[in-house]
Amino acid sequence: MLAVRLHGGDGALHFDDIDVPVAATADQVVVKVRACGVCYSDIHVVDGDFGSEPRPLTLGHEVTAFSEEHGDVFVYTPWGCGECRFCATGSEMICPKSHEAGLFDQGGYAEYMLVPHRRYIFPLGDLDPIDSAPLGCGGLTAFRAVKQALGVLRQGHGQRALVLGAGGLGQYAVQYLRMLSDAEVHVGDPDPVKCETAKGLGASEAAAPGDLEGPYTAVLDFVAAQASLEDAARLVDRQGILIAIGLHGGRIPFGFGAVPMEARLTTSVWGSLDDFAELIQLAQREEIRHVVERLPLADAAIAHERLRRGDVKGRFVLVP
Ligand SMILES: [Zn+2]
Ligand SMILES: [Zn+2]
Repeated sequence: MLAVRLHGGDGALHFDDIDVPVAATADQVVVKVRACGVCYSDIHVVDGDFGSEPRPLTLGHEVTAFSEEHGDVFVYTPWGCGECRFCATGSEMICPKSHEAGLFDQGGYAEYMLVPHRRYIFPLGDLDPIDSAPLGCGGLTAFRAVKQALGVLRQGHGQRALVLGAGGLGQYAVQYLRMLSDAEVHVGDPDPVKCETAKGLGASEAAAPGDLEGPYTAVLDFVAAQASLEDAARLVDRQGILIAIGLHGGRIPFGFGAVPMEARLTTSVWGSLDDFAELIQLAQREEIRHVVERLPLADAAIAHERLRRGDVKGRFVLVP
């Protein structure tokens, strides 16, 4: 089968012909990949930012697949140890011994994939296996962040939420906030095209972050670079919540005088097994729009190159 893998530390993508994996225990499942989304984390893996191993490593962690037993499925890919207190509550993405597919275990840029436990398999229902592939990371990560914001937004009326960064994750967040809260949703992004897309998805205002006026009850920073976190700290309300989700490495000071009084600052990481089940139910109930461009798996390098340049409207999805 074809698998797109990293070998050494040079970041080159290799298009390898390797054996189809075989399940070694009754709990493991081999699935036929239907689609795999391209996440910016894949670029971080290629660049060596996470120290990913083993090598060779098949990339990819936004996977839909066909299983002989279950039909079309989503694969939950932030795999944990299954034994620690975080895994006990399904928060496997926080597991200290996590081995996420495509980051620290073999992923979904391939024709088949070995899933280490059947608890990671979620039936797709009548969702489109290609368009909905990004729900596995982009959609799920935005969903958990929005759930954290809802806890604060629901304490009042006439609240406003701000989504910083209108790429794939921000686009999901705008839709979830509209579906699940009565907050007015604003978007901050320097790219006017992305701002227009966000308005089309339900944002009532979208502009460059410098042109926005706070305060906002909830600020979801899907960039979390230095500049965006500084914007977030400036725009969040007293007793509001600032959630850092993006992995761009910004840092801001914390303490009296540095952030608004009683504002809560937190990070949000991927999503739990329960979050994923809840999100799939939401997707089956409401119409979530996926801004997706399909490419054949053999074009993985093109997808990466375009993603680096920011030449993407929402999410690339690779189809084997
Ligand atoms: Zn991801
Ligand atoms: Zn664990």
